[in-house]
This record gives sequence, structure tokens and C-alpha cells, in this order.
Amino acid sequence: MKRDYYEVLGVSKGATADELKKAYRKLAIKYHPDKNPGDKEAEEKFKEAAEAYDVLSNPDKRARYDQFGHAGMSGNGGFGGGSGFGDFDINDIFSSVFGHGFSGFGGFGGFGGGGSSRGGGRASAVRGSNLRIRVKVTLAEIAKGVEKTIKIDRMVTSTDTTYKTCPTCGGSGQRVVAQQTPFGMMQSVTQCNTCGGSGKVVDKLGAGANAEGLVQKTESISVKIPAGVVDGMQLRVAGKGNCGPMGGPAGDLIVLIEEVADDVFSRDENNLLYELYVSMPDAVLGAKKEIPTVDGGKVRITIEKGTQSGKILRLKGKGLPEYGRAGRGDMLVYVSVWTPQDLTREQEKFFESMQGAKDFEPRPSSSQKKSFMDRLKEMFR
Ligand SMILES: [Zn+2]
Repeated sequence: MKRDYYEVLGVSKGATADELKKAYRKLAIKYHPDKNPGDKEAEEKFKEAAEAYDVLSNPDKRARYDQFGHAGMSGNGGFGGGSGFGDFDINDIFSSVFGHGFSGFGGFGGFGGGGSSRGGGRASAVRGSNLRIRVKVTLAEIAKGVEKTIKIDRMVTSTDTTYKTCPTCGGSGQRVVAQQTPFGMMQSVTQCNTCGGSGKVVDKLGAGANAEGLVQKTESISVKIPAGVVDGMQLRVAGKGNCGPMGGPAGDLIVLIEEVADDVFSRDENNLLYELYVSMPDAVLGAKKEIPTVDGGKVRITIEKGTQSGKILRLKGKGLPEYGRAGRGDMLVYVSVWTPQDLTREQEKFFESMQGAKDFEPRPSSSQKKSFMDRLKEMFR
């Protein structure tokens, strides 16, 4: 069974942060793996002290431990999740107190399975860099979603390059640097310069390959762009970036969405604005009109008798789909009454006969006096 953390560090329940730190320092120095090579018991004590210090030095974890004991410390035990301690790294604890890492033991990292193995051991493959590409999409494409084939130049692993173990680090990918500290010589670990941390170097270079065993390749990649995307949004295509050096895994392809300006509609989030011009007779007498929708269809609307210029009609659900969700925005139809400009003399006479007539004097209501912008804002709210 696990020992009590206070007992591990040899402090009282009311120990201050300073007392905890001092106690941990003492134990870390005493049981440090560099001082006790091959001593399993010392290694266990070293780990035990780090674990106890990790919990007790964190006020939140300490409060949980005081209340629930070890049961409150399991990583997924429902105590707010995530901040449990499957995820702490013994090297982080050590360097938080001593200011640098330790070379320590091969192959162990955190507890409970979540740890990294920075303490030593085998090199991990170095992942390639991400690639970024802009893709232009129209509103019609955004309305339905689209699959685009794009050409990219990426660095891929050359198949005829062979590798051998890095002679500098012997395959660990790491370089151990000795440092003089108040507690004696301590070792810290950095990345090997020769192999860049991969633990491998090129043995025989394949045709056209660079020193990292990569060749450039132009590829056509199909990218699914979901409906409702927004300008500036980034989509990630996993594994389609550059491959890593020395046969390492590929990074991702980041697709940046660029919305092309539309001639017919303008966009406000998921709503679309459409300006409809109607003739004076249509505005006066009323009419039926057909207007385009963003997905290429048509919709019939009614212009009511006596429609004023600036009226906004809302067509529910005729806007753009919501990204990643059900539902669509609306289409807002802004009605402009078209004033004729090139009239025959006869037509002018017709208007002259009405000029000055009392029935033609504008009598806007107070709501009609609001500016277009005000009303537009009101519609969006
Ligand atoms: Zn190396």
C-alpha cells in the first residue's frame, strides 16, 4: 500500500511550502540515481518523494489529498478530472526545485502511465513540420460543402535511403551535459546535435534525397471542406504535412479557408443579404418575384401592394448552414424601388400629372424613418 505523503517527506500535516521544498530537496539528493547507480530501492524512494512533493506542493492537489487521501489522487477519479496525477513528470518536479533536469534512469517517466521518458532511454522519431495552404471557396461551395483536389509540394521519406544508429549519441537522441551544482555534479539532458534527436543518421542517401533522407514530391490531395466554413478557419488534414527527418512521421496539412467575395449575396455570419430592385409599378401595385438562392435554386416571393423602398423580407432557413451543426441562417431580402431615369416625353408627362398631388406626398411612419442600418441591425438581433 502507498505510504502517506507527509510521512514520505517526513513533515507534519501543517508543513509550509518552504518546509516541503526543503524536505524534498534532502530526499532527492539522498536518493538521486546518479548517487545510487543500479539501486532499485533508492530509485523507488526517489520516485516516491517526487510524487509526494508533486501533490503536497500543489494547494489544490494537497486539499484533495487531505480530504480523500490517495483515493482522491487517481487521474480519472471524478475529482474535477484531468488534474489528477497520471500526468506529472518526475523531471519537471525535480527541475522545479533544482532548476535543471537530471539524466536519471532509462525508460521511466511519470507515474500511472502518463509520463514522458525524458529521463533517458530510446530516442523517439522526430515528426515533420506542418504545411499550410490557402484554399478559395465560394459562397455556393460553403452552402453545400465541397471536396477540393489541391496540389501540394511536400517532403516525403525517400524510399531508397538507408539509416544507421547515430554514432554521437548511440541512438538515444540525447546528449548528457554535466553541471556543477551545490549538491555535486548533476547531469542534464539535451537533444543530440548530430541526429537532431532522432537517434539515426543517413547510411546511404537515396537519389535526390537531402541530408535528412527526404525528397520533394508534388501530390494531389483531396480535402473535404464542410458546409458553413468561415473565412480564416483552419482545417487540419492529419499526416499530409512534411515527413520527419530520418523516416520520422509526417506533420499535418493546415488548410486555411479563404472566402471569395460573391456578386449576388453578402454574408453576415450565417445570414445572407440580397438586394432586390423592384419597379415603381410593382412597388405600388404588388407583384410576384423570383429570386436566386445561394445553392443555385430559385424562390418566389411576394412584393405586397404599397411596398416601400428599404423594406426587408426575411426568408427563414435560406441562408448558410451552421458549421458543424444542424440548422441554417436566413436570407434577408432588401427591397429597393427603382426610379426610372430615361423616360420618353410622354412618360414624363404622365409623372408631371401626378407631381404635387397630395396622395404622392411621402408620409413615412416613425419606424420607417429609422436608417437602413438600424433596421438591418434589428433584423440580425
Ligand atoms: Zn545522435
